[in-house]
Amino acid sequence: MTELEIVEACRNLGRPGFRGKQIYAWVQQKAVGGWAEMRNLSNEDQRLFHEAFIWQPLRLIKAQTSLDGTRKYLFQLADGERIECVLMAYDRLTARDRRTVCLSTQVGCPIGCVFCATGQEGFKRNLSVGEIVAQVLEITRLMRLEDRDFKATNVVFMGMGEPLLNYDAVLAAIRILNSRDGQDIGRRRMTVSTSGIAPRIVDLARDDDQVGLAVSLHVADNATRDRLVPVNRRYPLETLLEACREYTRRTNRRITFEVALIAGESSARAARQMAELLRGQLAHVNLIPVNPAPGLDLRRPDQREISAFAGVLSAAGIPVSLREEKGTDIDAACGQLRRRWEEA
Ligand code: SAH
Ligand code: SF4
Repeated sequence: MTELEIVEACRNLGRPGFRGKQIYAWVQQKAVGGWAEMRNLSNEDQRLFHEAFIWQPLRLIKAQTSLDGTRKYLFQLADGERIECVLMAYDRLTARDRRTVCLSTQVGCPIGCVFCATGQEGFKRNLSVGEIVAQVLEITRLMRLEDRDFKATNVVFMGMGEPLLNYDAVLAAIRILNSRDGQDIGRRRMTVSTSGIAPRIVDLARDDDQVGLAVSLHVADNATRDRLVPVNRRYPLETLLEACREYTRRTNRRITFEVALIAGESSARAARQMAELLRGQLAHVNLIPVNPAPGLDLRRPDQREISAFAGVLSAAGIPVSLREEKGTDIDAACGQLRRRWEEA
């Protein structure tokens, strides 16, 4: 719920509106674990609100910490479904004091990309606004047991699911996470990642011109992309890139194009096609050697091929980076922890 919705709900319960503001701050800013911790509420009010609201839609099933500090969480929802989130480690030594939370937006995913463990498991349902926001809050609460000052600084919608197919809930979650009296995470520190739902990319430019956009491009020819990212049959590259150009016209913002590098697919020729496709688009390409998942027969290219791919793009004037990999020892790639847990 937004602050305003809680204020109204309090009034409907016959309580003053400012109680709602207090509750919002406890839930969002302080990320407390229950009504009993709200010290400025009377016991009677705590009981009343306990009856009236659903507190926490997530239950922690499993947490893993990687050697590099990345943490992965498996949460269970009220209906028994399970989702994952990841907290990317921060390194105080590099002075980049970032704590990025990677959120899920759906249970499963209807897109079915061939390299993605989530996509291979099919689609169950959308997450609610509460289930999306609660991922940040629950991770914050858990982290504060170790580090009282913990605060998420960045959010990426790169967990399970296709955020632009749960558009309204994702936008509402962004607004709540952005709210001053809540987590107060800047919209420019949040990134929505999409497999390429072209009409929704244009909608996003209209509805929120601050939040970042990442497009999971992977390859630049339709035949291959049809096979790897099946939504390409619905929104082929021409349509997708037209939506991206429109997005940039309206927002002036650079789009990050994500490219999973796969042995046999990510050739120098594929890189040249990509440079051609992205010509004139304000772009940044993020290369990610594919994370081989159990049951998915995909390998990453060798170092020489990876450098060759990057070299072609930079020679064409496209800024390119190789994503620093985190958490491979804890199955931190999309959908992998849930799969392993359920097989065990
Ligand atoms: N559905 C959205 C956001 C979630 S997936 C999207 O597809 O963009 C987040 C990112 O993880 C996407 O770029 C996706 O292509 C990538 N990804 C999924 N499985 C992967 C794997 N096995 N190795 C590397 N990247 C993967
Ligand atoms: Fe869905 Fe993204 Fe996985 Fe594709 S990569 S199946 S769009 S979660």
